[in-house]
Amino acid sequence: MSDLKFLSSYAVDSSTIAILLALLLLGCGKDSGDDSNKRQDAQCILDSEDLYPDQSTSLYILPWTIGETYLVTQGNCTNRSHRVQLNQQFAYDFNLPLGTIVRAARDGVVIVIEESYPDGTKVPGEENYVSIQHDDTTVARYIHLTSNGVNVNLGERVQRGQAIGISGNSGNSTGAHLHFDVMDGNCGPQFIDCHSLATTFMNTAPHPHGLQEKVAYTAEPL
Ligand SMILES: [Zn+2]
Repeated sequence: MSDLKFLSSYAVDSSTIAILLALLLLGCGKDSGDDSNKRQDAQCILDSEDLYPDQSTSLYILPWTIGETYLVTQGNCTNRSHRVQLNQQFAYDFNLPLGTIVRAARDGVVIVIEESYPDGTKVPGEENYVSIQHDDTTVARYIHLTSNGVNVNLGERVQRGQAIGISGNSGNSTGAHLHFDVMDGNCGPQFIDCHSLATTFMNTAPHPHGLQEKVAYTAEPL
């Protein structure tokens, strides 16, 4: 990546900082601490309380096969990678084992695909992923897919529930999982100036303040 050139430079200006920040963004890196009091950002949770769309009118379904159940291993407003400072406070990590079918959570058009990286490198920026833009211009991202794990083509229109890829452990990831978030625009692989959006899912247990960390959710029939 050409951006890495900046890392060897002594010049620290605002663009350098922005790029370093961006390199952090794609990842779901290792827990930075084991103090449970520090695992979530209380102010972020307070500020977000009213932002979650009513589940009954949600346009999203859980991004896996109906009947399957997965655990939220990192929820919203954490002090790890899903933090407000990284514009990722509304991202979710789910414990999909490597090789699990990932499905579109909402109808849209495929605007970014990347599937060239091997699993397990743990290198930020080496994430395989799909971005799907919805009719309202918001963009869902499905990140850490396995090598060659994208099943859709650029520009393809996909339907909610359609298989779009295979889960994996690519990029900044310490184990197989799916990182899912919805952004307010197409941020591309580096998403400066994009912001994550509070998301609920119509086909699972009630979650008025978003899916909760350490809780398993089943994709119920529609
Ligand atoms: Zn994540």
